[in-house]
Amino acid sequence: MFELFVNAIKGSISKDQIIEDELLRYAYSTDASLYRMVPKLVLVIKKESEVLDIIKAANDFDVKLTFRAAGTSVSGQAVTDQVLVMLAKDGWLKHTVIDNGAEIKLEPGIIGADANSYLKNFKRKIGPDPGSIHAAKIGGIVANNSSGMCCGTAKNSYATIKSIRAILADGSILDTGNEKLLSAFKTNKHDLLSGIEHIRQKIVQDSDLVSFIRKKFSIKNTSGYSLNAFLDFEDPIKILERLMVGSEGTLGFISNVNLRTVPDYDFKALNLIYGKLSDLVDITVKIAGFDVSSVELLGGFSFK
Ligand SMILES: Cc1cc2nc3c(=O)[nH]c(=O)nc-3n(C[C@H](O)[C@H](O)[C@H](O)COP(=O)(O)OP(=O)(O)OC[C@H]3O[C@@H](n4cnc5c(N)ncnc54)[C@H](O)[C@@H]3O)c2cc1C
Repeated sequence: MFELFVNAIKGSISKDQIIEDELLRYAYSTDASLYRMVPKLVLVIKKESEVLDIIKAANDFDVKLTFRAAGTSVSGQAVTDQVLVMLAKDGWLKHTVIDNGAEIKLEPGIIGADANSYLKNFKRKIGPDPGSIHAAKIGGIVANNSSGMCCGTAKNSYATIKSIRAILADGSILDTGNEKLLSAFKTNKHDLLSGIEHIRQKIVQDSDLVSFIRKKFSIKNTSGYSLNAFLDFEDPIKILERLMVGSEGTLGFISNVNLRTVPDYDFKALNLIYGKLSDLVDITVKIAGFDVSSVELLGGFSFK
């Protein structure tokens, strides 16, 4: 089956986009995690039609795909012993700043810090602020629902996404920013959307589960599907859109996102306060009413 998959792929993408050489495959066997898995094959993708062909062939020949943007994941999300599908370095780089920087449309190959540089003149930036923002790409930032030092749960991809274009695992295209495509999707994927509504009904009827999901997603939590979507939205399209965020590529390939941006203030300040734990807790409660992005408690060992 695997050879049939490779043959099918060779008809769709050019030779230089297919990495079979053992040494090169070995080079792609790690991300920023402690795991190592040597992919059987690495495919370098440049456009949507290629992704569609690859997903179709994978379904036809029962081959598993793992997508990779910058490969800075720390839990092994971007490694596989099957087929690694990587964004080409010189591809997926288009962006459009909308409404004086209130929103930005981004392709998945754009590095987070570059997205912020497009917004700088508008004094805006994207919400997610992972420590890896100078390397991590939009595809990985959205698919991991990356958070960061300041964005917490209020400004992460889940909270700031306005629309998404994705190729789902069955090859269908979900484009929540395109009315025409969305209406066709609703007709063609009626069963999928009814299934989502059914799951939602089951969740909302279970008060323990509702409380559990609310509690779990009130804190920074980037592992697993965004189950809070079932409580935050009634529209199955909006639920599916938010499920894509944080799905780590398991539900489909993200080829475009429209993110609402957040202010990038001219003046930023950092204050270090030393003291007894009880005093620091009191101060934290007092300053919580101000527009503070982040409060971090550092133990004595941090200064040694
Ligand atoms: C020094 C350092 C600091 C970090 N700081 C933070 C932090 O503060 N907060 C935080 O949340 N994380 C942090 N991370 C983890 C990681 O950098 C982020 O999660 C980052 O957003 C991943 O982006 P990436 O481009 O490297 O994605 P990758 O690692 O390449 O991929 C991430 C996931 O997205 C999937 N994926 C990639 N592209 C697509 C696509 N187009 N469609 C569908 N799925 C796709 C992959 O399959 C994988 O599951 C840090 C990592 C490092 C090394």
